[in-house]
Amino acid sequence: MNLKKLIRNVPDFPKEGIQFKDITTLLKDGKGFKESVRKMAEPWRDKKIDKVAAIEARGFIFGAPIAEQLGAGLVLIRKKCKLPAKTLTVKYELEYGEDTLEMHEDSIAEGDNVLIVDDLLATGGTVAASIELIKSAGAEIAGLSFLIELKGLNGRDMLGGYPIDTLIGYEGV
Ligand code: AMP
Repeated sequence: MNLKKLIRNVPDFPKEGIQFKDITTLLKDGKGFKESVRKMAEPWRDKKIDKVAAIEARGFIFGAPIAEQLGAGLVLIRKKCKLPAKTLTVKYELEYGEDTLEMHEDSIAEGDNVLIVDDLLATGGTVAASIELIKSAGAEIAGLSFLIELKGLNGRDMLGGYPIDTLIGYEGV
């Protein structure tokens, strides 16, 4: 099944120069969505994953069914002020300014083996911040899983050598 064909490229969204990879066209295709989740879960089946940490918002869409397939718990990494209980927090640089990610401090136990999931790897800034957050909880990072990788941005280079799995690659940015 050609999953790449199910991704819609939207030029100049949300601003000029960005080639936005729209996954809604894949999500609405029952076979495509099922195949994506199955393939994303596959490399981690024998890796004894305790928790899947999914990054808001599109990471939740894939993180939840992957966690279910792996028999792992699901942990939400969210934008600032969304989580109700006590959180661990990390700030990270954006192109202009900075942003914050949070995770409930009791969501991951020391020594947990964690798989991080998001829809797309671009510069790697978001997932690098998530790695920091999970490490601050004393957990181990088993690997990183993305549906899409924008290879031209070399996001992998800043991700510290953790195992990375991506299903669909684009050579450009
Ligand atoms: P980055 O921190 O640069 O790796 O950006 C990753 C996050 O931004 C992911 O959560 C994506 O959902 C989103 N993102 C970045 N670039 C794109 C793009 N070209 N198309 C769709 N989503 C993107």
